[in-house]
Amino acid sequence: MYENLLANVPTDLWIGGQWRKSSDGARFDVIDPATEGKIASVASASIDDAKAALDAAQAAFGPWAARKPRERGEILRKAYELIMRDAERLAKLITIENGKALSDSRGEVAYAAEFFRWYAEEGVRNLGQNGMAPASGARIVVHHKPAGIAVLVTPWNFPAAMATRKIGPALAAGCPVILKPASETPLTMLALMPILEEAGVPAGVVNVLPSRRSGPVVDHMLHDPRVRVVSFTGSTEVGRKLLHAAADNVLNTAMELGGNAPFIVFEDADIDAAIDGAMVAKMRNMGEACTAANRFYVHEKVQDEFEKKLAAKMGALKMGNGLDDGIAVGPLVNAEGRDKVIELVEDAVGKGAKILVGGKRPDGPGYFYPATVLTNVPDGAMMLNEEIFGPVASLQSFKSEAEVIKRANDTEYGLVAYLYTKDLGRGLRVSEQLDFGMIGLNRGLVSDPAAPFGGMKQSGIGREGAHEGLMEFLETQYIATNW
Ligand code: NAD
Repeated sequence: MYENLLANVPTDLWIGGQWRKSSDGARFDVIDPATEGKIASVASASIDDAKAALDAAQAAFGPWAARKPRERGEILRKAYELIMRDAERLAKLITIENGKALSDSRGEVAYAAEFFRWYAEEGVRNLGQNGMAPASGARIVVHHKPAGIAVLVTPWNFPAAMATRKIGPALAAGCPVILKPASETPLTMLALMPILEEAGVPAGVVNVLPSRRSGPVVDHMLHDPRVRVVSFTGSTEVGRKLLHAAADNVLNTAMELGGNAPFIVFEDADIDAAIDGAMVAKMRNMGEACTAANRFYVHEKVQDEFEKKLAAKMGALKMGNGLDDGIAVGPLVNAEGRDKVIELVEDAVGKGAKILVGGKRPDGPGYFYPATVLTNVPDGAMMLNEEIFGPVASLQSFKSEAEVIKRANDTEYGLVAYLYTKDLGRGLRVSEQLDFGMIGLNRGLVSDPAAPFGGMKQSGIGREGAHEGLMEFLETQYIATNW
């Protein structure tokens, strides 16, 4: 059904501006989560391939760093335009390998492209400082240099956006990159490479190494002295491993890790707006997002209304192959992800939670799970402590502001929290007390290329997007002088 779409998608390694097989010929299969059928066989990079990519990136570094910021910006701007030209093709490819509904994939492509447009503009604002030492009167001249080769490791849930969110600022800063995409979804990034080449990105500036041997391949790169940055998006568990490896080489690290987002609905909230926000916060990407609302806390006075309205909206969502018209719920990415959702729902129900809608895995091929709402989820339920990463809303009620702040903060994660109230004073007061890097105040979506995205506590280190995202790829140098 989509052979035409896949016909021209590259499946080899992209190193130094050339397609190459893996040094030992290894390959791995990519699976369509809607059919469980094989869609492609992709080269699996070895340590020797990583060495070749490091050499290519090193050769590209000097000339790329020496280009004028405006020239790099023009290339990024062109890349933005070319992605938008090819948006529909890329969106379908994301749906084929990831499963998400085409409407979600279209949104992702636009979001992904926007990082190139934003950093085309932001890369020319690499400003320094000039000051005077208070006691000696010496001059303090501060500027920022490209840090060096950046190793980027990305997850499967946003195959395009999680990568462009790193490639955009790295290239704007003057750094070459080696990207290791997730093995579930390597095709989107491979398909992006001819687009970047057409935009004028020189050979070796962006290299892509899909691999089934991520552990040793990434570890080798993180121990190469030419690498200066590791930027990772994925689970906290893998992030910890990379932080250990990064310590050996004292790398600059940017870590975008897991989340466990609370979604708080106060008694004075606009309930219809809260429902709309909840649908986005929960169902964008079928819940397979680090920003997904994982714990709904609804004030007891509005619990009944909120539950009924949310269950009605969730129950109306159509499930099926994400490529088909009108589908809102595609399959989850793989059997493991789907089985985890089943386990979490069974655990919660076994401990007393009530299913308002959904909750039953359909028959047939594909890793499907329906939009589900659970209420009265008991405190001991596993889903309150782990990322559900699926289309399941878990509801609890609360009585007071102080109580809900305490419960919302009771997690090792600190990526994003959502809250709904018509009282802006209360909204800001509560926001300040929530230990999360991002707050959706009367909004169910926080992601924006112009905003600093990132988490507190075990949700990560550093920020992506905004000017902060550029700084992750720059080193600060200070020159002490007199004139
Ligand atoms: P994952 O941690 O399993 O994998 C992420 C990437 O790391 C993949 O490319 C994978 O192949 C690679 N990897 C796995 N083991 C590795 C190792 N030992 N060494 C080097 N690389 C290794 O995560 P996932 O399942 O792909 O994605 C889901 C997770 O990502 C969730 O926890 C989600 O919250 C998180 N996430 C976070 C953000 C954010 O911005 N904070 C965004 C999206 C996803």
